[in-house]
Amino acid sequence: MWKTIRVTVLLVVLVIVAGRAWLDRVETQSWKSPLWVGIYPLNADGSPRAQSYIADLSANDFAGIATFFEREAHRFAVTLDEPVHIELYPQGKELPPLLEPNAGPFGVMWWSLKMRWFAMHATKVPGRTPSRIRIFVLYHDPSSLQTVPDSHGLQKGLIGVVHAFASRSMAGSNNIVIAHELMHTLGATDKYDFSTGAPLYPAGFAEPDRQPRYPQPSAEIMAGRRAISATDSDMPSNLQDVVVGPVTANEIRWTHH
Ligand SMILES: [Zn+2]
Repeated sequence: MWKTIRVTVLLVVLVIVAGRAWLDRVETQSWKSPLWVGIYPLNADGSPRAQSYIADLSANDFAGIATFFEREAHRFAVTLDEPVHIELYPQGKELPPLLEPNAGPFGVMWWSLKMRWFAMHATKVPGRTPSRIRIFVLYHDPSSLQTVPDSHGLQKGLIGVVHAFASRSMAGSNNIVIAHELMHTLGATDKYDFSTGAPLYPAGFAEPDRQPRYPQPSAEIMAGRRAISATDSDMPSNLQDVVVGPVTANEIRWTHH
């Protein structure tokens, strides 16, 4: 009897979670009204440098992301004026749960559940409408580390965790990472080689049919890098040099509806 109840409760929870994920996907891929995206800045290392950087942030620092989505969506079948609307929320106090580097599939699943729980509480701002997609941007003092930890974007839960450098000169590349993780929450997949970081041909190329093929004029958002020769690639410094390729556009349903 108890076993039946337990199994029933578990099944109901699973059905609700699956239904929720399905609704989220339909809603975020409909492109009928602006998608509300919230930026939630956090001080990752508790440093004074990250703190003063966050204090100086304004919505304008993220405007390039909305412009990028507008420009690229219009190249495909989306006619919406503002496909993505970016809002800056006040700095949060609590840091999101950490994903261990060798977490394994079960560890990742557990982390994504904890992440959803965290996002539910961390995004409650009095007097502000909660955003549909939540991007937590964790700022690090650039003088204390060479590279930031990996960033993540979850389609199930519509959450992004972005590690960024608290530096004006890095603001453009931070926006590329935010746009990349935002794309993941919408269902886009990575288009680079995980071992080398090189863009994958053809899906990770801005202009795969270009003659000559190299150098590519810009980077594809889910590749993150621009191929300059068969063996070399570089990272663009802002979203003006990044495009959405047809494979990514198809994944996020920038198609005729
Ligand atoms: Zn990615």
